[in-house]
Amino acid sequence: MKVLGYAAQTPSAPLAPFLFDRRAPRPDDVTIEILYCGVCHSDLHQARNDWGFSEYPIVPGHEIVGRVIAVGDSVTKFKPGDLAAIGCMVDSCRVCAPCNEGLEQYCEEGNIQTYNGRDRHDHTQTFGGYSQVILASQDFVLHLPENMDLKGAAPLLCAGITTWSPLRHWKIGAESKVAVIGLGGLGHMALKLAHALGAEVTLFTRSPGKEADARRLGAHNVVLSTDSAQMQSVHNQFDLIIDTVPYEHDINPYLPTLTLDGTLVFVGLLGDSPTFNTMPMITGRRSIAGSCIGGIAETQEMLDFCGQHGIVSDVEVIKIQDINAAYERLLKSDVKYRFVIDMASLSAA
Ligand code: NAP
Ligand code: ZN
Ligand code: ZN
Repeated sequence: MKVLGYAAQTPSAPLAPFLFDRRAPRPDDVTIEILYCGVCHSDLHQARNDWGFSEYPIVPGHEIVGRVIAVGDSVTKFKPGDLAAIGCMVDSCRVCAPCNEGLEQYCEEGNIQTYNGRDRHDHTQTFGGYSQVILASQDFVLHLPENMDLKGAAPLLCAGITTWSPLRHWKIGAESKVAVIGLGGLGHMALKLAHALGAEVTLFTRSPGKEADARRLGAHNVVLSTDSAQMQSVHNQFDLIIDTVPYEHDINPYLPTLTLDGTLVFVGLLGDSPTFNTMPMITGRRSIAGSCIGGIAETQEMLDFCGQHGIVSDVEVIKIQDINAAYERLLKSDVKYRFVIDMASLSAA
């Protein structure tokens, strides 16, 4: 099937219209017409080969919502006309220990990324959601709760699940104190979700102008991370810190703000971190961890939770033609708080 999308052809080229072939559908595939696709900082990283493993052309996009237009013969979970969503993965080996536990994102053979991946069966390149149509096995397609705003729902498929998974893994609830570093796409979802789970929530930000928004989004407290007196004032507080910062940064000022047995979990930076002092880790039995998106069952759990609690992302809807300008704004942390592409704009390309 020929599909129109937007692609980066090299690390330095702007995204531009690109006509490509989707692989042939298999019996367990669900084919989706894409209505909205969120813009994750990971799209920018991979379009520009920041992580060193981009295979061009790259059609980014892994926060995908749309409507089912066709299903294969063995599909039981979806029918044409249903709302459906796809996140960061479209397949995994399905038999290893992590896959058996519903932790497909940690598949021992590597999960198959929605874009910048290779299909497990025919080894064709995977292309993401900045496009008209996508297909995937029904086991990697999510149901959207009725009446959810579709624009706001799209970012749940990455920003939502990536912050939900550590909140659940570290058992965050009404007794917990959670902090979030960075108020962008992931950070604003972390505030909303931690608040809805009943935790006391603090935002660490470099941006003084974001305080009012942070409180509206669910933060009880806001700490300017560039102010050492403010940092001192929150020592020994947090059970969990979710660090969403995309680039190298010093975590030493944050470690003493963890409580005994507290954990700082990286979800933002994929790469080298400057060294950290082990003293606060040893004296407070504190941990540093990482977390990758979330499993399929957990993603459905998060979508259902958001449906019940009326949670969606705060979005700025853009046309696909504005994607390169949106990337420049993302680099300046100038987004409130997620760009979402209205895919109807693609027909004008
Ligand atoms: P984003 O919308 O650009 O937000 C990042 C925020 O971090 C900014 O708004 C800013 O907040 C803060 N920040 C940015 N640069 C900084 C710097 N140099 N030093 C300190 N703070 C900085 O990005 P996003 O879409 O939320 O993605 C965040 C990161 O998560 C990206 O690297 C992305 O690749 C990664 N990611 C990981 C996973 C996973 O599975 N682990 C999944 C999705 C995304 P303030 O202005 O408030 O300081
Ligand atoms: Zn993402
Ligand atoms: Zn596996």
